[in-house]
Amino acid sequence: MPLDDPARVERRITVIGAGLAGALFATLLAQRGWSVDVYEKRGDPRVRGYEGGRSINLALAERGRHALRLAGADEAVMAQAVMMRGRMVHFEDGRVSLQRYGKNDSEVIWSVHRGELNIVLLDIAERAGVRLHFHRSLESVDFDARIAHYIDERDDSRHHVPFESLVGADGAGSTLRFAMSGEIELGERSDFLDHSYKELEIPPADDGGFRIDPNALHIWPRGRYMCIALPNDERTFTVTLFLPNEDVPNEARPIDGRPGDHGPSFASVRTGTDARALFERDFPDALPLMPQLEQDFENNPTGILGTLYLDSWQLDDRAVLLGDAAHAMVPFHGQGMNCAFEDCVALAEHLDSTANRAAAFAAFEAERLPNSRAIQAMALENYLEMRDRVDDDDYLLQRALEQT
Ligand code: FAD
Repeated sequence: MPLDDPARVERRITVIGAGLAGALFATLLAQRGWSVDVYEKRGDPRVRGYEGGRSINLALAERGRHALRLAGADEAVMAQAVMMRGRMVHFEDGRVSLQRYGKNDSEVIWSVHRGELNIVLLDIAERAGVRLHFHRSLESVDFDARIAHYIDERDDSRHHVPFESLVGADGAGSTLRFAMSGEIELGERSDFLDHSYKELEIPPADDGGFRIDPNALHIWPRGRYMCIALPNDERTFTVTLFLPNEDVPNEARPIDGRPGDHGPSFASVRTGTDARALFERDFPDALPLMPQLEQDFENNPTGILGTLYLDSWQLDDRAVLLGDAAHAMVPFHGQGMNCAFEDCVALAEHLDSTANRAAAFAAFEAERLPNSRAIQAMALENYLEMRDRVDDDDYLLQRALEQT
């Protein structure tokens, strides 16, 4: 559609959620001349600091960077990113070995700080003309009247705002998805993993530098469970410990050394002292790097992991879902955000190519739903690979041969 087409200036859209996908999608549409309003339940992180508090980072891959480049956000994001050349595997016997992702530094991934990334994307959205409305939590939707109902959780005030179409970028627990499911059958099902995670931290060294090699994604694979660490530009590492939820028999690695006993789980590793004992036994080279281990373990929440499947992502021309709201996945392939960013580009392009929104939403779903299913399956497979196979000598030999 030509830039001076009168239909272009009429085009308005409402995005729910100013997280990673919501902010990027809003930017891409505003840059195409759309009038975009974004409603976010939390406060503006640029005013109050990122509410997540702790440093939590994400692996950014080429598919995500491509979307950031299109929005003009890549340079600002990359200014804070830390390069990860490969997996640094920490074996049980103390050996450490780097498995590169590619032949050279053109094939790498990047560690980015979730809070800083969100702030960059919000700044870029605002500069593109997006109207950001914070403290507006979507509560319900009257799809017939096309009115969205929001609540400001600070004072419980209600706000009723008309819309033409809603884009649900409100994450895995999407309220918009719930509202849509009252209108049509979305075919929703969630598979929760029987493993959960806990985030811990490696602080900077006494001289202010990194305590271990910053240019790698560190992995301590231990069969049925594992630990990983990703670098932050503030010289810290975010460590994530993945354990089964319940005790399971573990012949290879019984927790108290008796064959046939169970391995560690969040049911048996409950306190900071339990965590220290686990690290002393299974991650001894990581333990001295984490002086706050006990406190982190006890203060930080345990996160659950799951995969969300939907058969349909859209409600005619009135609503569509993207990112985690449409296809949340387990984090082991590091692709949830990257996949969400690809959604943003695809939906912006479909919307910009036709005046028929229902057709654009349907075309977006037809393009992206099969892709997201494939990535979800790869993410589940990668859990087995990361925790079980990266320290397997046959596997390493095969990978080495593939790379020569
Ligand atoms: P979110 O980031 O969840 O954003 C949703 C936004 O909507 C939030 O701002 C929220 O406040 C807002 N919101 C929610 N409800 C409402 C409402 N009712 N009204 C208004 N606003 C609302 N992905 C990667 O690519 N690489 C990784 O390395 C990686 N690691 C991960 C590690 C872990 C432990 C986890 C759990 C996930 C990881 N992911 C990773 C996945 C990634 O975090 C998500 O895929 C990504 O955040 C999805 O972005 P989103 O914008 O769709 O959702």
